[in-house]
Amino acid sequence: MNTITGKPVCGGIAFGKLELIKNETSCVQRIRVNDTKKETERFEAALLTAKKELDDLYKKALLEVGEENAMIFDIHQMMLNDVDFLDSIKSNITNQKLNAESAVAMTADNFAQMFSSMDDSYMQARASDVKDISERLISILSNKKSTSVTSGGNVIIGALDLAPSQTVQLDKSKILAFITEEGSNNSHTSILARTMNIPAIIGAKGILDDSFNGCDVIADGYSGKIYINPDMSTVLKMQEKKLKSEEKMLLLSKLKGVKPVTKDGKEILLYANIGSEDDLVSVYENDAMGVGLFRSEFIYLERKNYPTEDEQFSVYKNVAQKALGKRVIIRTLDIGADKQVDYFDMPEEENPAMGVRAIRICLARPLVFKTQLRALLRASAYGKIAIMFPMITSVGEIKKIKEILEEEKDDLRKDSIPFNEDIEIGIMIETPAAAIISDLLAKEVDFFSIGTNDLTQYTLAIDRQNDAANAFCDVHHTAILRLIKTTVENAHKNKIWAGICGELAADLNLTETFLAMGVDELSVSPSLILPLKQKILDVNISKIKDDILQSLY
Ligand code: PEP
Ligand code: MG
Repeated sequence: MNTITGKPVCGGIAFGKLELIKNETSCVQRIRVNDTKKETERFEAALLTAKKELDDLYKKALLEVGEENAMIFDIHQMMLNDVDFLDSIKSNITNQKLNAESAVAMTADNFAQMFSSMDDSYMQARASDVKDISERLISILSNKKSTSVTSGGNVIIGALDLAPSQTVQLDKSKILAFITEEGSNNSHTSILARTMNIPAIIGAKGILDDSFNGCDVIADGYSGKIYINPDMSTVLKMQEKKLKSEEKMLLLSKLKGVKPVTKDGKEILLYANIGSEDDLVSVYENDAMGVGLFRSEFIYLERKNYPTEDEQFSVYKNVAQKALGKRVIIRTLDIGADKQVDYFDMPEEENPAMGVRAIRICLARPLVFKTQLRALLRASAYGKIAIMFPMITSVGEIKKIKEILEEEKDDLRKDSIPFNEDIEIGIMIETPAAAIISDLLAKEVDFFSIGTNDLTQYTLAIDRQNDAANAFCDVHHTAILRLIKTTVENAHKNKIWAGICGELAADLNLTETFLAMGVDELSVSPSLILPLKQKILDVNISKIKDDILQSLY
């Protein structure tokens, strides 16, 4: 038995024969042409055919995987209309007297290299799109069949990478899983895998070994492990894991569409935590009622320089639109401590977790803060965005934040730029100070979201990054639970709602306690939503409330 470990992209366990697909990276012959006019015409004809093929693929994808995923073929069509791309190919034909195939290959290599070297992970992922369209053009020019996966079926596909157009053509009823040596979580192929719910593993180095072709394989899309020619004990172990996960999924999937209401009738807002626009796919898959925490700092972390207002606006707007009216709580920049961004050039700190982080950076650097607020306000015209501020410790901070927010609103009004005048604002309760004065803070905002990750570290004086101190970290500590209870009570006294978006929200051992306290919202990783919903449905708050609350004192 051989074992390879990759990165799981989509859960599920598949047993099957491995079929390696080695894209004939069209070995393009470089031929000198004399009649460049005729060669250009040959290219123009291939271009038309490619556009037609992409149009057909768009229509197929629209039916099978929805508009959002079909968009990739629209993007490919746009790339085929890109003046720079086309000019470069035509100039290779006319000036260098190259045959159309090598003119396309040369241009595609340059463009793919340019995309790969960009800092933005989204743009990097576009390199595979360029390769995809050039393969298509070259196949048409050389009269080869297009780049579809031609497997007979009931196999696990192994490939270097799969182009989006290949992935969408996978027949779900025949392809059991796919494994690639390359790929990124952000690529359309991974997004499609999740949407199509095919077990998928990327970054599986070594899977392309020819001797594995046709072998029995088990692909574990939960752990990223691939077993080639598995021994009997692994087969039995994985069969059991598959059975259990299928039983669980089946049971949980029945909860989609069911409202998370306790036995005694309290409906809980069950939201998802996300870190990027792409994560919205799993928000839908898991039936979240909205987004309880969008960690906007990832937009800053993945860049080499400050994201502009327009760049941020575009992300927030997309998220707002894709959420289709559901509430999306976007947290303003929370960097510092463990999340360092080079270009912020922050002075080194003795104890960064207690230093200038999150809202402190924003208040110290109003330009950075204002840019984000303006982008958020502008995006609020396109959906139900709420803004949330991290690491609050005082009423003064909120007053200052609201002052800055009002200035930005005024500016937008002057420029006649639309935004939601009633945009909700909330704060994270993640410092003991905020929990203790939550009665005062509640008068200033529309909601509270309790960040138990930081609330735990600050309450117990345990650095959340320090493994050595982990043994002392009791996440169920009464001090933390009392602070949560105080926060919820103060929220309700002031007629606002309170939720939890730290990791503790998904701790099923505490669900009853949180509901007994009156917590209104729980926001967790998308894949944990359905198990949590199951738990909520089983709770009868009135029966357990008194005992649980008394046990805290
Ligand atoms: C928290 O502190 O609980 C929280 C949700 O924020 P983060 O983990 O991003 O600090
Ligand atoms: Mg936090």
